[in-house]
Amino acid sequence: MSDTRIYHGDIKPSDLARDLISHFNRGNYRVQQIGRDPKIAIQIATHQFAQSGGQTALTVTIHQVEDGISVQVGKQAWLGVAASLGLSALSALRNPLTLLGRIDDIAQDIESLQLDEDIWEVINYSARQHGVGTALSDRLKRYVCPYCITANPPGEGNCVACGAPLGDIQPRTCLNCGFVVSSLERECPNCHAKLI
Ligand SMILES: [Zn+2]
Ligand SMILES: [Zn+2]
Repeated sequence: MSDTRIYHGDIKPSDLARDLISHFNRGNYRVQQIGRDPKIAIQIATHQFAQSGGQTALTVTIHQVEDGISVQVGKQAWLGVAASLGLSALSALRNPLTLLGRIDDIAQDIESLQLDEDIWEVINYSARQHGVGTALSDRLKRYVCPYCITANPPGEGNCVACGAPLGDIQPRTCLNCGFVVSSLERECPNCHAKLI
């Protein structure tokens, strides 16, 4: 199972960040945000992790991509996340992370595996709310004929303007993780799902 997915359509990293914060910033969780559009990281820590400084909690990294957002969930160290967002460790330390919430001493026994599933559930829910998904958006489906530079609507086998064959350049996505793949690929290079 992959920990990176692409959601295609009209959504910004901050849209998803907002939903993750409003869902997780309560109870046994502590949520921090670093960065802003087009690159945001959200760290979600359980109480157990909060005590140890929150350096090993789950981190959701959200990047704007051409046709939507790329979302990654992983156990990245917080300063590593800062670096991947193009911030130096120093500037991350100079601008203290926004502490959005703190958990109290409610006993919690949430394992990170369960948290991982919960996070993806909220991400998928948020994606549905924004009308985006792992299928290619109509905007990106409109591909340009390499011969006459006419934009063609989705599904055309031949260019509507010059009649050139377009089959091989028709982009598509892995419906499991949203990666854009070519029509020649049989297996998703990201999550290894079979492509139909
Ligand atoms: Zn053409
Ligand atoms: Zn895939």
